[in-house]
Amino acid sequence: MGKVNITIDGVNIEAEDNLTVLEAAKQANIDIPTLCYLKKINKIGACRICLVEVKGARGLQAACSYPVSEGLVVRTNTKEIMDARRSTLELILSNHKKNCLSCSRNTDCELQALADRMGVGDVVYEGTAEDEIDDLSTSIVRDNSKCVLCRRCVAVCKNVQTVGAIDVAYRGMNSKITPAFNKSLGESNCINCGQCVAVCPVGALTIKYNIDRVWDAINNEEMHVVVQTAPAVRAALGEEFGLPMGEAVTGKMVAALRRMGFDKVFDTNTGADFTIMEEGTEFIERLKSGKNLPLITSCSPGWVKFAEHNFPELIPNLSSAKSPMSMYGALLKSYYAKKNNIDPSKIFVVAVMPCTAKKFECERPELSATGYPDIDAVITTVELAKMIKQSGIMFENLEDEMFDEPFGEASGAATIFGTSGGVMEAAIRTVTEVLENKSIDKIEYEEVRGNETIKEAELSIAGQKVKIAVVSGLGNARKLMELVRDGKVDYQFIEVMACPGGCIMGGGQPRKIVKEKAGIDVRGERRKALYNEDKRLPHRKSHQNPYVKQVYEEYLEKPGSEKAHHLLHTHYTER
Ligand code: SF4
Ligand code: SF4
Ligand code: SF4
Repeated sequence: MGKVNITIDGVNIEAEDNLTVLEAAKQANIDIPTLCYLKKINKIGACRICLVEVKGARGLQAACSYPVSEGLVVRTNTKEIMDARRSTLELILSNHKKNCLSCSRNTDCELQALADRMGVGDVVYEGTAEDEIDDLSTSIVRDNSKCVLCRRCVAVCKNVQTVGAIDVAYRGMNSKITPAFNKSLGESNCINCGQCVAVCPVGALTIKYNIDRVWDAINNEEMHVVVQTAPAVRAALGEEFGLPMGEAVTGKMVAALRRMGFDKVFDTNTGADFTIMEEGTEFIERLKSGKNLPLITSCSPGWVKFAEHNFPELIPNLSSAKSPMSMYGALLKSYYAKKNNIDPSKIFVVAVMPCTAKKFECERPELSATGYPDIDAVITTVELAKMIKQSGIMFENLEDEMFDEPFGEASGAATIFGTSGGVMEAAIRTVTEVLENKSIDKIEYEEVRGNETIKEAELSIAGQKVKIAVVSGLGNARKLMELVRDGKVDYQFIEVMACPGGCIMGGGQPRKIVKEKAGIDVRGERRKALYNEDKRLPHRKSHQNPYVKQVYEEYLEKPGSEKAHHLLHTHYTER
């Protein structure tokens, strides 16, 4: 990579020669506005907001796609540029349904922020934006009357996730984003990961909220309403209240949930400890028999649906262990109900998840071994933050509180489930001790931590070589699974997470785009919060969780028992 000397607004800078003008301008502390640009993913100059003047070039140029070159002279703030950007913005707004007050992206909308920045208030043109709402998906609502045709969603879905559930159809003024044949997203091959929602700058793609259902349950005195919170939620919820990133807000979150009126506040991490017990046992059995290897994790519902669509031949390799969320729900409606003498039909389980795909998982009919759905409603981190705000709770001032005992007891291994590599690390901590029949001191596996898209290692467990791989993001998973399917790799255990970076970057987490644009390492900060929480917990291995031991002794007999299989395992379907 070489360097070039360029001038932007009179500032001389030395920039790497593979940058665009937009990227180089940052070095001169100039933030060129954009709507469609997405670092490394979408540089197509579609929105025409980032227009700049390049000396010697005819007309204004899109900075996000104009490459730097030696001696380039750029202006970003002339009157002509400002007027052109304002006109473009007015045209976009003219064709946009402007019901900001009732829009779920109000105050968190890049178009709103841009209009404010550019001083665009009244819109002079009136377009033809018509309501065209698609809400048949379990997880996502599409409203094309708010779409600015930036194509970020298409790029993420097609290039990062390699799903291609949506694309641009028709031409010119009739262009729109849609699944094939104008179908609903709910009828398409969409795997509900919400990565398109996470990048949509406006309210055209939003999370399907379950907030009202949850308030109704809380206010129904006949129901015993239990909430469980996934590990990644605590790593990001504080961002919605202006708290520093990189710190888990577990105690404040528990205090807020109690004030909102939940009867019991439990930790999905307890469910994750059960998942490790069941999945670890399954792994040991497969390792001994040599059947259906590699074992592939199945706790990411986006990945599971992707596998059902794209790799049906690998379905036998998926772990049959339910996800922590669903295992926990099944135990709440069986063991917990019996122990506390509560009619399971009166238990309403709410799961707070970083993930929009969990809303789809919750509706799988097979996840109801007790005769009742394992989970009654899934809300995302973003929805929980909205509910806390609706309640008037001053989150940032809350004193820490503990999860309800004993069902809130969980290990540090369960906490790191929230980040890519965490499930593998948690499983290896337990599997190694079980197979070697002794306590292991080295429990942090750096080989499966960090940002690499595919991480692999060869471990020695009880004298046996075990090859493992960890992958996140479905485009990366597709590449790895093609190698597995074609017999070109010989791993024994693979962890797959649908979202790049794992659950901490799920589609239900607080939006990251503006923070990343400001240079914050969102993924790294959230990951740090979970690894620190793991370190401070008294038990760091799932099999050491005293409550897990108690439930096996009193109810489930042992990991992998018939009863455990009935309640805690599931099956998958080719789609
Ligand atoms: S997308 Fe943004 S500008 Fe459009 S209605 Fe929603 S908040 Fe307002
Ligand atoms: S939720 Fe995921 S799979 Fe579905 S359209 Fe969005 S990015 Fe594509
Ligand atoms: S749906 Fe959102 S991300 Fe997709 S093109 Fe429209 S505005 Fe852009």
